[in-house]
Amino acid sequence: MPCLFCQIAEGKIPARMVQQDDEVIAFHDINPGAPTHVLVVPRRHIKSLTDLAAGDDALIGRMVRTARDLAREQGLAERGFRLVFNCGDDAGYSVHHIHLHLVGGRKLAWPPG
Ligand code: 5GP
Ligand code: ZN
Repeated sequence: MPCLFCQIAEGKIPARMVQQDDEVIAFHDINPGAPTHVLVVPRRHIKSLTDLAAGDDALIGRMVRTARDLAREQGLAERGFRLVFNCGDDAGYSVHHIHLHLVGGRKLAWPPG
C-alpha cells in the first residue's frame, strides 16, 4: 500500500492544504477533533518517531515552527493551542508517516483521553 501522506505530499490525493514549502506541508485533518485541526507533515517519509535520527533535528524544528506560525495565523496564539506527535498503538498512531497535530479553538482537556 502506498503511503497516504506521501501521496498527499505528491499531490496524488487531494487535501485542504494550508501551507507548502520544500520540506514541509500542512493540511486540514479530514476528521477534525477541534475547530482548528491541522497536520504538519514532512515531505520525506519517516515511518515513526522511533526512526528519528540526529540528522532529523532541523526538520522537526521546522515542523514545530511551522505549526506555531499556523497557530498564530489561525488566531490561536493568545488563547492557546496544542501540538501532538502520536507514536505507536497506545497513542492511536494510524498513518505511519510522522505528522504533528495542531489542535485548538476550544478548551482542551488534560490529560488527553
Ligand atoms: P494519527 O492518529 O496517526 O496521529 O493521526 C492521523 C490523522 O490523519 C487522523 O487525525 C486522521 O483523521 C487523519 N487522516 C486520515 N486520513 C486522512 C486523509 O485522507 N486526509 C486527511 N486530510 N487527514 C486524514
Ligand atoms: Zn509517507
